[in-house]
Amino acid sequence: MAGVKKVKKLDIKHPIIVVGGGPSGMTAAQTAAHYFKNVLLFDKNPEPGKKLLSIPPQIIYISEELPYDKVARAFGSKADFIKPALKIFGWKELSAHLAAMNIKISPNGTSHLSVPLEIAGEVPFHLKDAAESAGVTVKKSSKVSEIIFSGNRATGVIVNSVEYPAACVIIACGSAASPSSGATQDGYEFARKAGHTVVPIKPALVGLETIEKYGKMLADTDFHDCRIDVFKSEKFQFSDRGNLTFTSYGLAGELVLTHSARIIDLLNWSGAARDKVEIHIDMIPDVDKKEIAAWLAQKIEASPKITVGTVFENHIPLKLRGVMSKIMRIHSDKPVANLSVLERKSLLLWVKDFHVTIKRPRPFNETMGVLGGVSTTEIEPETMRSRKMNNVYFAGEVMDLLGPWGGYNLQMAFSTGYLAGLSAAKSISKE
Ligand SMILES: Cc1cc2nc3c(=O)[nH]c(=O)nc-3n(C[C@H](O)[C@H](O)[C@H](O)COP(=O)(O)OP(=O)(O)OC[C@H]3O[C@@H](n4cnc5c(N)ncnc54)[C@H](O)[C@@H]3O)c2cc1C
Repeated sequence: MAGVKKVKKLDIKHPIIVVGGGPSGMTAAQTAAHYFKNVLLFDKNPEPGKKLLSIPPQIIYISEELPYDKVARAFGSKADFIKPALKIFGWKELSAHLAAMNIKISPNGTSHLSVPLEIAGEVPFHLKDAAESAGVTVKKSSKVSEIIFSGNRATGVIVNSVEYPAACVIIACGSAASPSSGATQDGYEFARKAGHTVVPIKPALVGLETIEKYGKMLADTDFHDCRIDVFKSEKFQFSDRGNLTFTSYGLAGELVLTHSARIIDLLNWSGAARDKVEIHIDMIPDVDKKEIAAWLAQKIEASPKITVGTVFENHIPLKLRGVMSKIMRIHSDKPVANLSVLERKSLLLWVKDFHVTIKRPRPFNETMGVLGGVSTTEIEPETMRSRKMNNVYFAGEVMDLLGPWGGYNLQMAFSTGYLAGLSAAKSISKE
């Protein structure tokens, strides 16, 4: 290759080369280094783990305290693919792995496992230190521009016009999600060159803009425990229950992030064209319409002077009640006893069935994950080895694997990184 120098002096054997220093790459490198003392990790940024570092400490979930097959099922049609990695390196193994770096993960009253706020920002540095202590050579600000393939093997990588021969290459470049936090599409390019199929990328784990503009009136309103029913062209699709956040642009929060990929798919969104997708919100899901009607009638009888603005104060956040009076054209100071029959009906309808129409996902830069990536059908689930190239392995989000919101995706990155590192090292010791 013109203008490319070859690294001549090699200790022991050619190294295992890991491309990418996110959680998957650093775990792969550290694991491989326990078995094979020549591991080289390249990351294009001045410090590895930029995406991990970009996650606000108060919202980072590292894993899920759930049986491995339950975590696997959350990956939908990819459950069987991810199972072996989760079985060998699930939340318990990850907890022990992190505890050895003085990172303690613990539950927060749910299945989500998080790190203490004060050390969340240090996690990437601990991962890097642990990899280096295990013997990995970490090369920062080192973008791999090319992986060289010959026949059915990778023979090396090119970094800053220098060719590094390789015994094995682990591709751990991450997904296209959130480019401002260091994501690239390089992993997809390397995979294509190796003969792999890359499933087209779509945004996921992202907020949704709505056509209705409530803007500042509703911005940053958290709604705990509501139910959503999703409709496409007035046809029911699915429902779920959980927490929702109203934002200046539309909707975010746990429920939306979890289902955003599915909703974006329903939109069939391509630029301006889209199908009509509505979310119907039930603000008091435990009580049916009849019971609420009876409860309201009782309230009116017991305290006729109570106003429309305060009658639902224990059930609906203040900002949402403000919007309610605007939409219903019923003044919030109006005593409930003065409501007409029609006004009462529409008030109940609003509480049980508040509609918003989805316009489009937020920009790509705000995505926490993507649908698509290197097809898992061309990767061995037991080893993470490519079915196209004998000494190439994949780890983490570069693959077409996406779990729901929570700690699923980081657990997946750690688990597949561990398995890829272990498999690469074992394959060399067999040679
Ligand atoms: C805002 C936000 C919040 C999130 N919150 C959570 C959460 O709470 N829980 C959860 O489970 N998941 C969360 N995620 C997802 C999680 O961050 C990813 O699943 C995880 O980082 C994937 O790890 P990875 O190692 O596969 O890829 P990455 O972390 O993206 O690492 C890939 C690395 O490869 C490097 N690289 C790319 N191309 C090259 C190249 N050519 N040469 C050298 N290096 C290269 C990059 O610099 C990067 O360091 C969140 C994501 C975002 C954006």
